[in-house]
Amino acid sequence: MGGTRAEIRALLDGYKAAGYRRIVALRGDLPSGMASAGDFRYAAELVSFIREHSGDHFHIEVAAYPEIHPQADDAHADLHHFKAKVDAGANGAITQYFFNPDAYFRFVDDVHRLGVRVPIVPGIMPIANYTQLKRFSDACGAEIPRWIAKRMQAHGDDAASVRVLGAEVVAQLCRRLLDGGAPGLHFYTLNRARATRAVLEQLD
Ligand SMILES: Cc1cc2nc3c(=O)[nH]c(=O)nc-3n(C[C@H](O)[C@H](O)[C@H](O)COP(=O)(O)OP(=O)(O)OC[C@H]3O[C@@H](n4cnc5c(N)ncnc54)[C@H](O)[C@@H]3O)c2cc1C
Repeated sequence: MGGTRAEIRALLDGYKAAGYRRIVALRGDLPSGMASAGDFRYAAELVSFIREHSGDHFHIEVAAYPEIHPQADDAHADLHHFKAKVDAGANGAITQYFFNPDAYFRFVDDVHRLGVRVPIVPGIMPIANYTQLKRFSDACGAEIPRWIAKRMQAHGDDAASVRVLGAEVVAQLCRRLLDGGAPGLHFYTLNRARATRAVLEQLD
């Protein structure tokens, strides 16, 4: 959001010259106080532009929302908007994080029925701080199941217990996803390694 065609063209040329080959193409959100939305309204337009300007040089990933993007008109429209990004040239997708594996499997089945064949990698959010996670999840439309919320709340400010329970819950989710055929996992580490490492240790 906010970028002009000329700016994105210069960025792409810079990335290419520096030897980068992989891009995660996101529309993002308009920062508050920013006057112009720029030349691209949706990520699909950005993907088209990257293909138009740089051909097949970049491997492009886009965002996917198994629990529906919060600004989508409805679930059906959101699925079709996701398909438009793949049709525009995306090679794969990474999902918004979620804690309900059925939402992911359902999403994969739905887009498969629409003819989408690119790998869809689940985004995983390790749980380090429940209050922060709750705030973040409310904003981005990720649902925290009641049974997880209640157990987390029971630990209150005991950060060590929250981390242990968080690692257990998230590792179980990862196992179910991999067993169910997910092509890999994408961890939102948010520059903090510890909670992700705790999950990986449980996954061996
Ligand atoms: C893997 C991943 C990484 C992320 N990383 C970051 C990050 O680093 N920083 C950050 O700020 N945010 C990040 N986000 C969040 C993301 O920026 C927001 O969710 C943003 O609101 C949408 O970006 P998008 O690329 O999914 O947009 P789009 O795919 O363009 O979709 C945005 C909304 O527009 C709707 N839409 C699409 N096309 C149309 C159309 N033609 N007509 C009407 N409606 C349409 C969609 O249904 C959706 O509701 C990330 C999300 C994911 C899944």
